[in-house]
Amino acid sequence: MLDCGLFQGRRAEALEKSRRFPIDPARLKAVVLSHAHIDHCGRLPLLVKQGFTGPIYATPATRDLCAIMLADAAHIQEEDARFINRKRAKAGEPPVDPLYTNDDAQAAIRLFRSVGNRNPFFVTRRLKVTYHEAGHMLGSAQVALEYSPPAGGAPVRLTFTGDLGRFGVPILRDPAPTPPCDYLIVESTYGGRRHPPAADLPDELAEAVNDTVQRGGKIIIPAFSVGRTQVIVYTLHKLQSEGRIPAIPIYVDSPLSVDATEVFRLHSELFDKEARAFQATNGDILGCRSCNYIRETEESIQLNKRRRPCVIISASGMCETGRIVHHLRNNIQSPRNTVLIVGFQAAHTLGRRIVEREPHVSIFGQKLKLRARVVVLNGFSSHADRDELRRLTRPLAKECRRAFLVHGEPDQMEAMRDTMRGDGFPAVEMPGQGAAFDLA
Ligand SMILES: [Zn+2]
Repeated sequence: MLDCGLFQGRRAEALEKSRRFPIDPARLKAVVLSHAHIDHCGRLPLLVKQGFTGPIYATPATRDLCAIMLADAAHIQEEDARFINRKRAKAGEPPVDPLYTNDDAQAAIRLFRSVGNRNPFFVTRRLKVTYHEAGHMLGSAQVALEYSPPAGGAPVRLTFTGDLGRFGVPILRDPAPTPPCDYLIVESTYGGRRHPPAADLPDELAEAVNDTVQRGGKIIIPAFSVGRTQVIVYTLHKLQSEGRIPAIPIYVDSPLSVDATEVFRLHSELFDKEARAFQATNGDILGCRSCNYIRETEESIQLNKRRRPCVIISASGMCETGRIVHHLRNNIQSPRNTVLIVGFQAAHTLGRRIVEREPHVSIFGQKLKLRARVVVLNGFSSHADRDELRRLTRPLAKECRRAFLVHGEPDQMEAMRDTMRGDGFPAVEMPGQGAAFDLA
């Protein structure tokens, strides 16, 4: 099995879709994981709960990130079930089980086996797998599979890109060339869109910080705990060390973000050249005199009493749950403050309402005036855009017999299919859920 992600979206629907697997988990030989995002690894505890006992292969950083993210996901599942059951009890309905518990998550984590990039390993006697850098998040990998048919002859090659990252983003290395193959499963999140260049981000961030400091305000940044938070801290740290922004305090206020930062520190061998050079002269790229990492709730509440300018980075990334909601409630009514949006905000989330600069937003049932400045930086995307996807896929067109697009909304997939056909791919499919293909 390649990846084992959790469906996301509307709660009841996502839960129903997530409960069942297309095959019996007990019969499955192995899982090969591309990276640690929940939509790729979030159902592993359920797989184990339903009888899977084989190995779960992952790169070392993916394994370490999964250890914290699956425990966190289990906690959310248990909380969700408690919330649903309170409602069901009132309606006289029987309780539901959480999708999985922390025990299931720990059982899944024990099945992990780490393998580094460019180190081929055998999943079965006939199936060889090699990881290659994907540049999408710490530890993310593209997966090259080679199957040797029993009848002999040339092996059949299948490449699964997992999620592909951007070129030139901070900390992460660029994606490695996608391994040539007979069959390609490729992500298509931004198959039809272009991102602003990643190189402009430090300037834009510096402008937002300096402008807010001049007004005597705070900069509130909702950010996903893994990846985005570390990129922002590193960029701010660099800007401070270059004297381009004042050395105001930077608070990372989320226990999961603090844990994820520890995993980044454990895997500095994966940093790109610039991050390593910065590390050589400045020490810890994610730690500086102004950086403060906060786990305790009490300390988080204390932040509200601060009057002087500071940066507060907190989760969740779309402002739906977590400590960021408190920080927004406490700060969005003052025109001195800035809300800095650095990630995608899905429809119907508080984050989206802020991006759309609605004059009033409702937080904890309170109607608040949105008077803070809102700055949106789009270049921080962790997914390759149209041009970057093309740069990775085009060299494969001649040899690839059939390509399958995944992980994209229909309009993005269609745009990517047209581009790939134009580049000479003989067959590009957009498979639906549960579709089966014979690759013999
Ligand atoms: Zn991902």
